[in-house]
Order: sequence, then C-alpha cells, then structure tokens
Amino acid sequence: ARKFFVGGNWKCNGTVEEVKKIVGTLNAGQVTASNVEVVVSPPFVFVPMVKESLRPDFQVAAQNCWVKKGGAYTGEISAEMLVNLNIPWVILGHSERRSLLKESNEFVADKTAYALSKGLKVIACVGETLEQREAGTTMEVVAAQTKAIADKVTNWADVVLAYEPVWAIGTGKVATPAQAQEVHFELRKWLAENVSPDVAATTRIIYGGSVNGANSKELAGQPDVDGFLVGGASLKPEFIDIINSAS
Ligand code: 13P
Repeated sequence: ARKFFVGGNWKCNGTVEEVKKIVGTLNAGQVTASNVEVVVSPPFVFVPMVKESLRPDFQVAAQNCWVKKGGAYTGEISAEMLVNLNIPWVILGHSERRSLLKESNEFVADKTAYALSKGLKVIACVGETLEQREAGTTMEVVAAQTKAIADKVTNWADVVLAYEPVWAIGTGKVATPAQAQEVHFELRKWLAENVSPDVAATTRIIYGGSVNGANSKELAGQPDVDGFLVGGASLKPEFIDIINSAS
C-alpha cells in the first residue's frame, strides 16, 4: 500500500513571527491518522528555523533548487546545500514556477534528475491550465510533463507526483473527487505503460489545488489519490484536519 502523503506548500508567505505561530500550531496538532507522511515547505529563509523547531514526525521540503552543482548562480540555492542542511525533500516544477519563471518541462526534468542524484526526494508537480482542460488536452499535457521527467529519472521510489490543475490553485475551485481520480488514474496508467507496473503501483500521486479541511476527506477516499499538496490551507490550523483525512 502507498503511504498517504500530505505536503504543505507555504509558497512566498510568512514572517518570523508567523512562522513561529504556524510551527507552534503544527507541533500541538493531534495527528490521529496512522501511516501518513507529512512534509512542510517554508520559503528558503525560514527553512533552518522550521527544521530546528518542527516536531520530529514532520519533515521539511524546499520549494525549489538549482538545476546543477552550485557556483556562480546568483540568487539560486543548490541541491547540495539542501543535503548539507539535512533537508530531505524539494518541490520541483510547481506551476507558479513553470508559468511565472518560465520553467520548461525539460528544465524541471533536469532539476528533478539532479536533485535525486544528490539524494533529495522530489515532489514533482504537473497540471493543466483551464484553457488546456477546456480544449480536452489535459492528459496530453500532464503526460508530456511526466514523460520529460520519466526520460531522465530512474529512482522513482524518491519521487512523489503532484497533480495540480492550474485552474484549481488558489482559486477555491477544487477539482471534484471524480475529476481528480480520473487524472490520477490516467497518470498511473501512463506510468504502468511507460515506466513499469511496479513504479505505477508504488508511486504516490497526490492532488493539489484548493484542498481544505472540508473537502479533503472525500478526495482522500478516491482510490488513486494518495495525498495532497496544500497551499493556502497549509498556513492554517485546518492543515491538521487535512492530514487526518488520510484514508
Ligand atoms: P492552494 O491550496 O492555495 O490552492 O495551492 C495549491 C498549491 O499550489 C500547492 O502547491
């Protein structure tokens, strides 16, 4: 069975005071679900502070890292640095970086392969825009994003695939459980046919986009939804409710 996975992506939010408060709430939270892996992802500057103060059963992820070995790359953070700080996870290919920072499928795949080669575990994000969904190209788009990664990656055990439809991110327009299940099912089928049945059976495929404490339970009940990547609600106490929706 695939271990349920809940990631909290704080994006570019927080002050020292707010981060202390969020960590305090997380540390006091009652996790009643058994067998759930929880990872929170603060902005880089808060990573060491969160790492030091967070409960030991939760892990920390960075929100990005550089595509190769560090050096003369002003403003970047390397995979080696994350490893040096004992940060186990990194989020790569988030749609905000794909669209705003113009990260291509190829670049995301290169980053993923490099981060994995350094020993990081990767939450790799894919997802279609509203235009692409309405044009009926959802599967084509997410398959192309996944293929770019699959072409360069062999150690799938360290990858969590996050399906985040762009139209659902930060919009309050959550995918219906059926919509999420459909894409997760197709992605798993794609993995079975193009990587291996074993990778398809074991890789966690998590959903992201307007997940909250009220809608997480039904989404978590879908057979191919193995967890969540949570944005806005990961800054709030309801993140604990989302964790406890693990089925
Ligand atoms: P929201 O939960 O705020 O919609 O964001 C989802 C997301 O982008 C997580 O990476």
